Amino acid sequence: MRIGVYPGSFDPVTNGHLDILERASKLFDQIIVAVIHNPQKKGFFSIEERVELLQKVTRHNPRVLVDSFTGLLMDYVVKQKAQAIVRGLRAVSDFDYEMQMALMNNKLCPSVETIFIVSSPQYIYISSTKIKEVAMLGGCIDGLVPPYVEHKLLEKIQVRKGTD
Ligand code: ADP
Repeated sequence: MRIGVYPGSFDPVTNGHLDILERASKLFDQIIVAVIHNPQKKGFFSIEERVELLQKVTRHNPRVLVDSFTGLLMDYVVKQKAQAIVRGLRAVSDFDYEMQMALMNNKLCPSVETIFIVSSPQYIYISSTKIKEVAMLGGCIDGLVPPYVEHKLLEKIQVRKGTD
């Protein structure tokens, strides 16, 4: 069985992530979307909320499994018996960081490949950070995230505004 791990913050999942995920799921029998839990980094959504959002928007695809992990990515990948790490590439700006990570991961475990899938042109400018920024300022994020994610994002922004 060919297993791929698609790691990231997914805070929250966007249509750009889902495009990569759908395409990656055609290359593997199982693709595990793994939310990285970095205790030093406080996110907008909690890890549990990010996992729940991912589960909701990927449930039509039986090849996709959603999980979260702490610690070293390579330890997680080996534990899952995966053959590859999948990452999305948007622009040259992603390249330097991704190259460093791929080379370091190759050093840690040479038998695991890192596979890059190039973003579809309509999603190149989308990042979770930009979406949160625009949504917090009242801008329209229609078509950039699934409707359920948009709903949860706007709900959370409202709650935060209420407590400020
Ligand atoms: P990280 O914080 O590890 O970069 P992200 O959640 O931002 O995690 O992204 C996870 C992966 O998805 C990364 O490989 C990133 O480059 C990719 N990605 C994010 N947004 C897009 C997009 N719009 N199109 C293609 N790939 C994307």
